Amino acid sequence: MDLPDYLRRLPKVELHCHFVATIRPATLIELAREKEVPLPSYDPEVLFGYDNIVDFLVAFEAANHVFTDKGVFERVAYESVEDAVAAGNLRYREYFVNADLFPIPYTEVLDAMVAGLAAAERDFGVGFGIIPAVARHRPPEDAVALVRTVLDDGRPEVVGIGQDYLTPENTESPELWTEAYALASRHGLNRTAHVAEIPGSTAEAVTIAIEQLGCARIDHGYHVMDDPAVVEVARELQIPFTCTPYSTQVLSGWEMTPEHPVARMIRAGLNVTLSTDDPTFFRTDIGREYAEALPAMGFGAEDGARIALAGVEAAWLPPDRKDRLRAEFAAQIASLDEA
Ligand SMILES: [Zn+2]
Repeated sequence: MDLPDYLRRLPKVELHCHFVATIRPATLIELAREKEVPLPSYDPEVLFGYDNIVDFLVAFEAANHVFTDKGVFERVAYESVEDAVAAGNLRYREYFVNADLFPIPYTEVLDAMVAGLAAAERDFGVGFGIIPAVARHRPPEDAVALVRTVLDDGRPEVVGIGQDYLTPENTESPELWTEAYALASRHGLNRTAHVAEIPGSTAEAVTIAIEQLGCARIDHGYHVMDDPAVVEVARELQIPFTCTPYSTQVLSGWEMTPEHPVARMIRAGLNVTLSTDDPTFFRTDIGREYAEALPAMGFGAEDGARIALAGVEAAWLPPDRKDRLRAEFAAQIASLDEA
């Protein structure tokens, strides 16, 4: 089999995707028409045709409005797993979700997501975790309230907290979330943060996420490469980065070459994992992030297998479930290597 085929068939974990953005494009347009939700366009070519994060967030925000009831969450959850299995042999996924944005309460959003994802797990064997996201366009007090809601609810499918959106000034500003993250830390919730992603962000944001927010993972983190001292710290810690190559092509205009920041992060010995971020909105899928991005960035089959296994290690799973997933990956990779 050729390299893209091998990479597409590798078993995969995805640790960085936003639930709303896993909606099947046809389902989004069908539901928007049915519910009379205004979208910037009903033509996918136009709807997903932006080239900057602000216009992307406008389309993303519009899509939120089709999520009006539990049935939508269940359907989207199930279909998104079905699609990712077909596109790239997804075996386990963690989803960011921002329950504050919907007209039904947190517990109902979570109940419906769990129902849809559990049905998909029964049919496709794909495990899942849910990561409620701090909405960065809201004030820091809302982030603290979100953590309290998560702690009060206490369901096992919720594996930590993360982030989405940008601040009203279109910045990352990780330091704003210190109190919310400290509360999460005191109660043993895992933490990750979106930093060093956008034009103008800095390597220092990675340092703040690690030291001030106590993050166990970093989402994006590309601008870490701007400061060799921060690269060295991240390499020593082997903190996982959840990188999403095709989102950077849309939002930062970075082409898939050996000079792409993700390629440089991998060569620098950082612990890189691959995800889609917002697959429908960046017209990508988990298969493509391996099968197209890795060869274009200069990597081969062994690199792909190592990155797939790094995803297993970085997953927020209890040890027994992680052992089972690791064994499943080892067996599948061995049989791919023999083929
Ligand atoms: Zn993201």
